[in-house]
Amino acid sequence: TEEYIRKPEWLKIKLNTNESYKGLKKMMREKNLHTVCEEARCPNIHECWAVRKTATFMILGDTCTRGCRFCAVKTGLPNELDWGEPERVADSVEQMGLKHVVITAVARDDLKDGGSEVFAETIRAVRRKNPVTTIEVLPSDMSGTPENLDILMEARPNILNHNIETVERLTPRVRARAKYRRSLDFLQYSKELHPDIPTKSSLMVGLGETKEEIIQAMDDLRAHDVDIMTIGQYLQPTKKHLKVQRYYTPEEFAELKEIAMTKGFSHCESGPLVRSSYHADEQVNEAQVQ
Ligand code: SF4
Ligand code: SF4
Repeated sequence: TEEYIRKPEWLKIKLNTNESYKGLKKMMREKNLHTVCEEARCPNIHECWAVRKTATFMILGDTCTRGCRFCAVKTGLPNELDWGEPERVADSVEQMGLKHVVITAVARDDLKDGGSEVFAETIRAVRRKNPVTTIEVLPSDMSGTPENLDILMEARPNILNHNIETVERLTPRVRARAKYRRSLDFLQYSKELHPDIPTKSSLMVGLGETKEEIIQAMDDLRAHDVDIMTIGQYLQPTKKHLKVQRYYTPEEFAELKEIAMTKGFSHCESGPLVRSSYHADEQVNEAQVQ
């Protein structure tokens, strides 16, 4: 029999569904755009969209060629590339009045360029229409091909974010089509290409990792010159996904943040509801001051 551990109180929050939020949802459907905020049913959506003026768009379609076992995005053969998408993302950023936008994408292992051309075009389109909005990109490893990262980084995002998601030992289980070391090299390569663009990575905890392994992941990220780290609780999106092995307490998250700061990260966001894009607006400012 399958046993589930109970969700602690600090993770029980009500989803906000006020009028402005409904209007924005409608706009997303009309423009045929996808946000992680909606698809992952992110608990921070009201705070992010309405208060902090930030959102995470998912481009290159809604179907991923990979099937990571923590992720709710559907897997399959993706749709045709949509060259109108960059302009529509740029329009939405303008309509939402975003101060900071995160642009992520499904992994397009079916494309030689990994989708990097559309990605770069999206950065340029957003910047043309929204010159003061800061832009963070969160790509897959784009097959680990340096040329694909070159294309993306030429458009000069304000932050390059790429998630290791879990510790080295659990990577084959959690994201079978990715490689821990390849992700670290990807982050390092970005830093070599553009030393002035901060790099960032996220870890989910609660998948069965040990504290020593978390600390090792911090050391690995720092050894690859990663500037910013986020740590959040893994939550199981559906019964088909990996089960939560443990819920960390807010105090434990605070302790992990303290450890991360001693390792030399310029910023670490750590908490039960922290997502890769949570409070990203603060990180870009701090990173630029450095
Ligand atoms: Fe969207 Fe990220 Fe904010 Fe969640 S934390 S609402 S995914 S921007
Ligand atoms: Fe989800 Fe990204 Fe993995 Fe695709 S590559 S399944 S979008 S985490």
